[in-house]
Amino acid sequence: MKKLTICLSFLVFVFIQTTSGTVSGKDGPKNIILLIGDGMGLGQMEVARLFEYGKQGRLYIETLPYTALVHTYSANNRVTDSAAGGTAIAIGKKTKNEMIGVNSNGKEEKSILDSFKDHLYKTGIVTTNSVTDATPASFTASVKNRWDDQQSIAKQQLQNKVDVIMGGGLSYFGANKKGDANLISLYKKAGYQFVATNQELKDAKSDKILGLFGPKHLNFKLDRKELHSQEPTLTEMTAKTIETLSKNSKGFFAMIEGARIDHASHASDLTSIWKETIEFDDAVKYCVEWAKKHPDTLVLVAADHETMGISASEPMDIKALKKISVTPHYMASQLQKNKNGIGYTNESIRKVFKQYAHMTLSNRDIALFQSDIKTDQGQVYPEQQVAWEIGNRIAKHYHAGSLDRSIEKLSTTGGHTSNMIAVFAYGKGASQFHGVMDNTDIPKKLAKLMGFAF
Ligand SMILES: [Zn+2]
Repeated sequence: MKKLTICLSFLVFVFIQTTSGTVSGKDGPKNIILLIGDGMGLGQMEVARLFEYGKQGRLYIETLPYTALVHTYSANNRVTDSAAGGTAIAIGKKTKNEMIGVNSNGKEEKSILDSFKDHLYKTGIVTTNSVTDATPASFTASVKNRWDDQQSIAKQQLQNKVDVIMGGGLSYFGANKKGDANLISLYKKAGYQFVATNQELKDAKSDKILGLFGPKHLNFKLDRKELHSQEPTLTEMTAKTIETLSKNSKGFFAMIEGARIDHASHASDLTSIWKETIEFDDAVKYCVEWAKKHPDTLVLVAADHETMGISASEPMDIKALKKISVTPHYMASQLQKNKNGIGYTNESIRKVFKQYAHMTLSNRDIALFQSDIKTDQGQVYPEQQVAWEIGNRIAKHYHAGSLDRSIEKLSTTGGHTSNMIAVFAYGKGASQFHGVMDNTDIPKKLAKLMGFAF
């Protein structure tokens, strides 16, 4: 009887395997392009859609044929940070917040990118953040704390022989204090072409490219005009990456991150959420159009978590928000320091809100702002958090949906939420992505499609 049960179970298993239409192993995709919108929840997407196309319009991402919803909790928190969120998508296991490329016990784990390397596929990472930051690092390095020496992450990326690395983070590749060799020279010795400008990127011909276009993260799209930025767009970096990885290769895996959707969300900066999400949507469009010409490709669009509970509220003043031409981060950089170097002058606060956000602050508003940018001990917050304070006021003034600063201040992730995120898929194997999933399912499904043990 027992034998018969086992036999029947096996037959049922075979039946399911052959009727579920799974493409895997040698029938799987040749190339996988995984695009991650950092902090991109459905609220961020809806804001971008309304601002760019109006209520009847569609983002390009929304045209992809398969969708799923994904839970993102981490091993030690119901709300993940980018380290544990990126790691879940990279290694297929939950880890603790702040951990990168390791399991919840701190043990190093193989990432899906490593599996592609093991099988002699080419690999690449692209981001608008530093290439050593949480999401790209989760696929290419292992550290127990994301704030550890960023240079050690840059070194691991070299040791791991990732073919294309593009984004910001130049300041982590110089010689460190201990008299180590300059990391860029080590990359060059290992055969990488190093590029630092858009023109150099366009001209690059090598099979291995290290492109670093800014000291840390790249500039917000919204500030690029004001800052006379010469950085490549996310789509330009993506195009060169695909061109490079697809040259004479058996196939490739590329992770492309729109990182600053998260940064804009932390500042409740709806205008930048719009610009950064459209920048990301453009990169998705580029990849899908490339995949249409290369039908053995899977394009997967995901997010690591949602940030700040951004929502498209009914009274949100879209017209006014679209008129704002710089980010709260830029506005914070324009505040004048007091003579003693601590805090900012009332006049400059009034001026910056008027000039850039078209808001008239009363004396009481300014007094409240002055108190909100200080700790209980009277210390002024770093400029980034001053920017968050500015952005949150602008969002409130124009009735946009975002967590209150008081909630953000209590949060260890700076205002991330456990709201489900969406996955969109196009191409070979895309039909595997549907229903409600866990973030750890994403690399497991990719590995199964490729026939990798994972
Ligand atoms: Zn974040």
